Amino acid sequence: MNLKAFIRDIDNFPQEGVIFKDITPLLADAKAMQYTLDRLLEMVGDVKIDKVVGMESRGFFFAPLLAQRLNAGFIPVRKPNKLPAEKTSQTYDLEYGTDTLEIHSDAILAGEKILVHDDVLATGGTAKATCDLIKRLGGEIVQCNFLIELDFLNGRSKLDKTDVKALLNY
Ligand code: AMP
Repeated sequence: MNLKAFIRDIDNFPQEGVIFKDITPLLADAKAMQYTLDRLLEMVGDVKIDKVVGMESRGFFFAPLLAQRLNAGFIPVRKPNKLPAEKTSQTYDLEYGTDTLEIHSDAILAGEKILVHDDVLATGGTAKATCDLIKRLGGEIVQCNFLIELDFLNGRSKLDKTDVKALLNY
């Protein structure tokens, strides 16, 4: 199945100069979504995963589905001030300014095997901050798993020593 046919480029969204990869046509198609989930699972392979961590917001589409199929738990990493209980925060640099991501401090136990999933790997800042949170809680990252990788931004260089896999490359 040609999944790229279900991904739409939106020019200059959310800001000038960005070509936004809109995956909502893929989400809207039952067969494309099933096919995507199966391929993402193939990338993980036959390894034990305790928790799947998904990043707000678009990591939340597939991460819980992956977790169900892997017989693992799902853990959300969220933007600031969304999580209600005791949390761990990680701030990271953007082109202009900084951003912060948070995880519940009791969400991951030391030694747990973690799969990280997001829709798009761009500069890698989001994934790096997420990996830092997981490591601070003692989790072991098995793989960073993406639907889409924007190769020209070389985000994987920020995730050195981590297994980084993407289903579609641009
Ligand atoms: P980054 O931290 O630069 O790797 O950006 C990754 C986050 O921003 C992911 O959570 C994506 O959902 C989103 N993102 C970045 N660039 C794009 C893009 N061109 N199209 C869609 N989403 C993007």
